Amino acid sequence: MAEKFDLVVIGGGSGGLAAAQRAAEHGARTILVESGRLGGTCVNVGCIPKKIMWNAADLGGALHDAPDYGFRVETQDHDWPLLKERRDTYIARLNSLYAANLAKRDIELVLARASFVDARTVSAAGRLLSADHIIIATGGTPRLPLIPGAELGITSDGFFELGARPQRAAVVGSSYIALELAGIFAGVGADTTLVLRGETALKTFDDMLGEVALARLREEGVDIVMHAPPSALTRAGRGALELMVADGRRLGPFDCVLWAVGRAAAVDDLALPKAGVGLDVQGFICNDSYQVSNVPGIYAIGDVSGRAQLTPVAIAAGRRLCDRLFGGESGRHLDYENIPTVIFGRPPMGTVGLSEKAARQRYGAGNVTVFRSSFVPLYHALTTGKPRSEMKLVTAGPEQRIVGLHVVGQGADEMLQGFAVAVRMGATKKDFDDTVAIHPTSAEEVVTMR
Ligand SMILES: Cc1cc2nc3c(=O)[nH]c(=O)nc-3n(C[C@H](O)[C@H](O)[C@H](O)COP(=O)(O)OP(=O)(O)OC[C@H]3O[C@@H](n4cnc5c(N)ncnc54)[C@H](O)[C@@H]3O)c2cc1C
Repeated sequence: MAEKFDLVVIGGGSGGLAAAQRAAEHGARTILVESGRLGGTCVNVGCIPKKIMWNAADLGGALHDAPDYGFRVETQDHDWPLLKERRDTYIARLNSLYAANLAKRDIELVLARASFVDARTVSAAGRLLSADHIIIATGGTPRLPLIPGAELGITSDGFFELGARPQRAAVVGSSYIALELAGIFAGVGADTTLVLRGETALKTFDDMLGEVALARLREEGVDIVMHAPPSALTRAGRGALELMVADGRRLGPFDCVLWAVGRAAAVDDLALPKAGVGLDVQGFICNDSYQVSNVPGIYAIGDVSGRAQLTPVAIAAGRRLCDRLFGGESGRHLDYENIPTVIFGRPPMGTVGLSEKAARQRYGAGNVTVFRSSFVPLYHALTTGKPRSEMKLVTAGPEQRIVGLHVVGQGADEMLQGFAVAVRMGATKKDFDDTVAIHPTSAEEVVTMR
């Protein structure tokens, strides 16, 4: 006999937790099924532990610069095990905080793997859970390349399990995750190699970001190997790894090879055919702009929906969906335009809106005006290394409405959120020009570009 709820949520990551809590706040009787650790990718093997590792790498950079500011510092090697222990302790605290938040809102938590029985029923831990509304928020998992020996490497999940810093690390991939993890390895002192299929990185972003990111990694001592699609990974002498690439080159030896070659939707165990739910060509759950799958009453949010795979996007989609289903806000849904995001490279890169290329495609080349700025930030006036900050404003139409803003440089991560509000509100170049600058900052360049 099935137990009846208003809402069943499958997956207790960013999207599932947000949706369940919002539904419960609207008075819906909600149950959430999670097969792993509460918090999902972001909290356990994504944003949060990644940012902690990035902080460590960034601190390494500051220690390197400190003598230029008059400090006499003596740093010894970085203690990875200590950092891991402190990081894991913090994350365990977050896991229990999430459980407490569910309990506070009377949301029942089932720790089990869920699968569909039919379009209104889910099976988990031997129970049948039935509801008129079922949200799939199962996220994604990192892919391995289909080559011999791929299992000898690790993925981003394995990165967070490393008990010690590898001396020689290779990261394969050109995504933001590849660049971030390569930057972290290098920042805490590993000999780091980045292996690219072609010669560019970050191809879904404005070209400026990929170009500058690779240049900065190179300046940091990362060996960037181009035109090197991997063909096999083997164990060579003394346990070290060797990476073969398509043209016959052998790269290595490495102590660790990390694949960052994409993520797949986590749908394998859901028995979707029993509910009639379909997948798109890339394996994500089909869903419309209201997150509804091809089966009414079944929804997909977050990474499994295949759109803008970011934590705040999963959260926003889940909250809006539940405002619509249980809060009486009939038209509420997430607008996927102008989603700001940051790539935690060193330095960080912030981006919102269209790339220059995408703007030219959408508005026509003649209707797009681009403004650029390149400068050494004041902080680096005194340091031995002089990495430049780069900014690009992409505007459209005679009124020069800002349709894209891309910033690489110290502070870009904290700078972008406010500017994203302005871009979303339709700010023009004149609005930026008319805004008085804050001096001396890097952000002032955004409103003084000519
Ligand atoms: C290395 C890395 C760094 C990242 N950094 C950032 C960042 O800086 N900023 C940012 O915004 N985003 C970042 N992301 C992306 C972000 O983590 C995801 O977009 C976000 O976690 C997606 O949330 P979700 O709810 O869709 O899925 P998830 O958080 O993945 O949650 C899905 C949950 O569903 C559970 N589950 C799966 N199948 C079942 C089943 N059958 N039954 C029960 N439970 C199931 C899983 O155990 C998991 O807990 C990063 C991702 C990675 C991998």
